[in-house]
Amino acid sequence: MAGKQYEMRPKRVPHVRTRYRRIVTPIPVPESLPILRRLRKFEPLSMTGQPLVVWDKAVGCQVYDRWGNMWLDWSSGVLVANAGHGRKEIIEAIVAQARKKLLHNYCFPSEIRSRVAERLVELAPRGLDKAFILTTGSEATECAIKLMRTYGQRVGGKKKIGIISFENAFHGRTLGAQMIGGMPALKSWIVNLDPDMKQVPFPDGYWVTDTSFEGFLRALEKQQMTPDRIAGVIFETYQGAGASFAPREYMQALAAWAKKHEIMIACDEVQAGFGRTGKFFAFEHYGIVPDLICCGKGISSSLPISAVIGRKKLMDQYPPGSMTSTHTGNPVCCAAALASIDVILKEKLTQNAARMGAIMEEGLLGLQRKYPDHIGSVQGKGLVYALHMIKTGRKEPDYDKAFNVVARCVEKGLLFFSPVGYSSIKIAPPLVINEEQVREGVQVLDEALAEVCG
Ligand code: PMP
Repeated sequence: MAGKQYEMRPKRVPHVRTRYRRIVTPIPVPESLPILRRLRKFEPLSMTGQPLVVWDKAVGCQVYDRWGNMWLDWSSGVLVANAGHGRKEIIEAIVAQARKKLLHNYCFPSEIRSRVAERLVELAPRGLDKAFILTTGSEATECAIKLMRTYGQRVGGKKKIGIISFENAFHGRTLGAQMIGGMPALKSWIVNLDPDMKQVPFPDGYWVTDTSFEGFLRALEKQQMTPDRIAGVIFETYQGAGASFAPREYMQALAAWAKKHEIMIACDEVQAGFGRTGKFFAFEHYGIVPDLICCGKGISSSLPISAVIGRKKLMDQYPPGSMTSTHTGNPVCCAAALASIDVILKEKLTQNAARMGAIMEEGLLGLQRKYPDHIGSVQGKGLVYALHMIKTGRKEPDYDKAFNVVARCVEKGLLFFSPVGYSSIKIAPPLVINEEQVREGVQVLDEALAEVCG
């Protein structure tokens, strides 16, 4: 698991010069150390743990520092820059909105906020006809929990308050989001966990081999969670910790079961939405329509904005003035979101994610065949993948190995964030990536794997 730090000691590494990567200094860059030390001094320790690259600017699929290095980015920051980094269209929209001299709205709304709410509803499936604009993904999660639990009590009385989520899930770091999270270590501080928030195994097919929907029902039964006690089920449409999808049949059975028992379904698309998986929303892979969609990250490819999109019967439960947020629909963030959505649609980046994803998957499966004792599983779709690194020849997660592969890649000019979950090297480039960049990245990963595992 997380908890490791990259060493602050600059290491001499071979220079790299390709069209997409340039490494011309030791890594970390000696001149960047004062900045990194200042961060270590003034920010919480928890903010460390990432590769030691100090960004200066980022454009398209490239990230630059101040000292002449350039990385091919396979992180999108943290799955944010779907439309590409530093898009001219997004920058111009932000600047134009700022120049209009409207930087805030809340009690008194703006036209642009109305346009974003309308746009999100247009993008969602029919029946999801309201959008509540927030700032972070965690807030979207909190809001979904509140809406499902409120609705449960309305239709099923005081005991219909259960919120079911999945083991290994991540929904954010605020209290409710952590309570429904599926990593026990992250929530041990809460102590008094909500007894009606329960997790069940996520059927990823590798770590959890029972992928049948009966497994879901059995897990509920074991925890005495009968449908009359359950208000909602929330899940990351693919699980971020391993880029893992559930089987389509599982999700269809889940949706049918939920409908039968008036249980609401919330898809956390904070990572998955806005084209990332080769569909605009990832639940399209399952052929289901949730009652609520949580959005964040890639919604603007840049500034902080999130949203919950949902059915009117859920979204309109609270009377005027009682479900609000100070920074709702910030005009500048709204300008960024509208511009980013336009770019994604106009440039057909969802389709590009599907096309490039197929090439990516072929390359990654090739690596798995080459390093079968080290890469336990390759999971993902579109432009999100994870290599599940294992102890040599054993089906046990190996975080250190994943960490070392990421370190080697960063030294070679291929940028990842630190491994996630138990041992996943996560791959999530901006959706503007081209075939040459996909192939070059796979080749760099191959070199790094050879050095670490060889
Ligand atoms: N849900 C999912 C699926 C996420 O991946 C994240 C962030 N990694 C969140 C919620 C929380 O988003 P934020 O950090 O913006 O609060």
